Amino acid sequence: MTKNTVLFSAIGIVALAVFPLFVTNPYYVHLVETILIYAILLFGLDIVVGYTGQVSLGHAGLFGIGSYVTAVLIMHFGTPWFLAVPASIVVTALFGAILALPALRVTGPYLAMVTLAFGTIIQILINEMSFITQGPMGITLTKPSLFGRELHETEYFYMVAVFMVAALTVVHFLLKSHFGRAFEALRDSPIASDCMGVSVYRYKVYAFVISAGLAGLAGSLYAYSEQYVSPNTYNFELTILFLLAVIMGGRKTRTGSIIGAIIVVMLPSLLADIVLFRQIALAAAVLGVAGSAVALARGRTTARKVLVPLVATIGLAVWAYRIENMVDWRLTIFGLMTLFVVYYLQDGIVGFFRQLLGRRVAHTRAVDADRQTDPFEGVAMGSGSGDLLRAEQILMQFGGLKALNQVDLNVQRGAVHGLIGPNGSGKSTMMNVLTGIYKPTAGRVVFARDTITGRSPSQIALGGVARTFQNVQLFGEMTATENVLVGLHHSFRSNVFDAMVKTPRLRREEAAARKRAAAILEFVGLSDLADEEARNLPYGKQRLLEIGRALGLNPRLLLLDEPAAGLTAPDIRELMAIIRKIRDHGITIILIEHHMDVVMSISDTVTVLDFGQKIAEGNPASVQADPKVIEAYLGGASEPAPSAPSATAAART
Ligand code: ADP
Ligand code: MG
Repeated sequence: MTKNTVLFSAIGIVALAVFPLFVTNPYYVHLVETILIYAILLFGLDIVVGYTGQVSLGHAGLFGIGSYVTAVLIMHFGTPWFLAVPASIVVTALFGAILALPALRVTGPYLAMVTLAFGTIIQILINEMSFITQGPMGITLTKPSLFGRELHETEYFYMVAVFMVAALTVVHFLLKSHFGRAFEALRDSPIASDCMGVSVYRYKVYAFVISAGLAGLAGSLYAYSEQYVSPNTYNFELTILFLLAVIMGGRKTRTGSIIGAIIVVMLPSLLADIVLFRQIALAAAVLGVAGSAVALARGRTTARKVLVPLVATIGLAVWAYRIENMVDWRLTIFGLMTLFVVYYLQDGIVGFFRQLLGRRVAHTRAVDADRQTDPFEGVAMGSGSGDLLRAEQILMQFGGLKALNQVDLNVQRGAVHGLIGPNGSGKSTMMNVLTGIYKPTAGRVVFARDTITGRSPSQIALGGVARTFQNVQLFGEMTATENVLVGLHHSFRSNVFDAMVKTPRLRREEAAARKRAAAILEFVGLSDLADEEARNLPYGKQRLLEIGRALGLNPRLLLLDEPAAGLTAPDIRELMAIIRKIRDHGITIILIEHHMDVVMSISDTVTVLDFGQKIAEGNPASVQADPKVIEAYLGGASEPAPSAPSATAAART
């Protein structure tokens, strides 16, 4: 934690503690209490929306489940709060697991629709199951009791504040741990996550369950706060409001969730009160003009970029003073705000201010590499000889197309095995079969004496098969260090509870992983860029970072899919030196490459594919001289056979 975080947290806690002493009006105490409750829910929603990048329109439903579990337990059994609150958390978390099921199959608009249906069904169920819930009548309850006495409004405020601070801390620790990195990784590239041994399936479920647990806690606290629950509260409008609040406040920050919570509470009343609305619209226009002026003066933006939002805010203010009442316009404003946020405030209010102040997203800084840490620490030196990998009679069919047709591939332990062939000959398909992304139509893959066909990509990765991708698949919003740390995910034994309270075990593992990541980055020559977000790295460096991330997995077999594509000549030399060093550490390598000079100089054995079939195999010299290979590359043209078909091959890339 930085000094600033500690300082702001301290100020926040003190402010919460003294607030009810100064503000005695119970209305305002209740208002802030409601904001705190929504903040808890939004911390959770942000895990799903901000971190894993999934849409959920089911969170009002989850919130309702949390409220109703508490209310029903109290009404039927007189359950005390210290049982009712945990019960709400657990039951809602279980429903979160149900909500995760569709998220494992669909994304985007489809997921939005399914989760929306979930929320609607929950609302209907609450309405209809009146033998438990009293249906539309709702349930009345009292504030929780402590030491045999019911809490006052202010005392309950403190209870909520304690829960909120606890939730904030736990969520923050969790998201800064390897769990948080797993969530972010699966948003940026699900395929790469799986191939780094971070099971997308598993972490999506984790994200939804934890998120739902927080919604359950918020729901329970809300029931006590309002002392009344009814099905109408947990409606469509609320769920949209939650989503809008998370995005508008700012994804991936706790401050953003708190700002979002203020929006959830204020927006409906704002849209009901014309006078207030006019004042806020005016304030927004003034702020917008001032903010744009500052940003322009500091050269952080261009006139063109600020024009539309500026005209929009000023227009809004003018319009606010011309309309007579708000009721007719409520939903229109809602929709316009959503559009505005999606187009102009993608990083939310927090992101807007960050940009204005020229501050960057706060990533945990990388540690310096030291000599003691070996980038190849956990890599088992290849022992013995013989084949590390055998692919037998692989058939991969896409509809009528046989992308791979009865291909055998034997890769010797400790070797660099080149895999070449014209575009579309099935090289990448082979790699996808070997790493479990495709299940072959027929044939099997044996790795280190185990049949791995049918295993999931993350299982295969954890077994010691790492890879890079032809189209770079980095985790764009994460730093170079964090990318490598995802590769090192397997080195953590800490569970979710360790992460939530940051136990010594987790700290130890995190420190060790960060040291190792620094050593790996140094090995691939990226130390200077350790804190840079992957999407901002030059292309050549991105390819090297992918290799570094793969090394974190302690692979026995490393698959490189066209690592030199798009690289400049000096970059290629650097890459070749790195590949040689990796081989010298006993890691077996399969290398797909279009640059013939690279493949031929570095490979022990070369396999040539053409139209999904193996047409040649052997040492580089014999393959290069093979007439079938020359024909495949030159398309049967009767030109004089070149000694290395590099120029032609590169031209076909
Ligand atoms: P290479 O990597 O050798 O350039 P690929 O393995 O990417 O070639 O592709 C081999 C063939 O398989 C191509 O014709 C490609 O269009 C086809 N192919 C690859 N993946 C799929 C897929 N998921 N669905 C349909 N066709 C595919
Ligand atoms: Mg390919």
